[in-house]
Amino acid sequence: MNIVIFGPPGAGKGTQSAFLINQFNFFQLSTGDLLRNELKSGSTLASEIENLMNSGKLVSDDIINNLIEKKLIDQSIENRIIFDGFPRNIEQAKTLDSLLSKYSQSISLVLNLKVNYPILSKRISGRVSCSVCKKIFNEFFDPPVPCDHPECKTRTLIKRSDDNEETVTKRLKTYDESTLPILDYYKDKGIVVDVDAMAKIAKVSEEISNIIKELKS
Ligand code: AMP
Repeated sequence: MNIVIFGPPGAGKGTQSAFLINQFNFFQLSTGDLLRNELKSGSTLASEIENLMNSGKLVSDDIINNLIEKKLIDQSIENRIIFDGFPRNIEQAKTLDSLLSKYSQSISLVLNLKVNYPILSKRISGRVSCSVCKKIFNEFFDPPVPCDHPECKTRTLIKRSDDNEETVTKRLKTYDESTLPILDYYKDKGIVVDVDAMAKIAKVSEEISNIIKELKS
């Protein structure tokens, strides 16, 4: 079963993906993470990508689709992928469908994480993550505590350069204009399930877990 985890920046897509990895052995395919890795590699595209990310705009479909296809050829993650941060517009949604069908796969479920926008700014500006295990904390709602893994003892807490109030406003605008319309595309396929993502993290995980168990049974 492949899943799209859908929602605005700060809805908890990364946090709930981490839960799904542990609980159901899914593989998280986050285009944001793939792009941040691309930046570290210092490729020729790096500065173009960095400028777009820091201005809250979308990176070109060609770059994204290329990154995604490189992952889809990996059979070890077949039919257990959570797409996080992808697709971000209708073209990407259509490309994803055709790429998946090329590899005899499909999307079975779109988890639509619903949150009120006023809370998102604090969720994003307070976000930090462990440099080692990538666990996400929030300085306002879920302050950092030591991680479970011994190797995290040497961790630093990382703040993303685009997690600031100015960029967040632009990212939300991009979400409204380009990404939100995808929901209707998936609703027409009858695969969207709404999730109350305003609830506590554990409660959201429980709701998602029940949805997946029901689909698998
Ligand atoms: P995220 O980590 O998903 O919040 O993504 C961070 C930034 O990376 C976004 O604001 C975009 O600039 C870029 N990005 C991530 N995923 C995509 C995508 N599927 N298409 C275009 N740009 C993306």
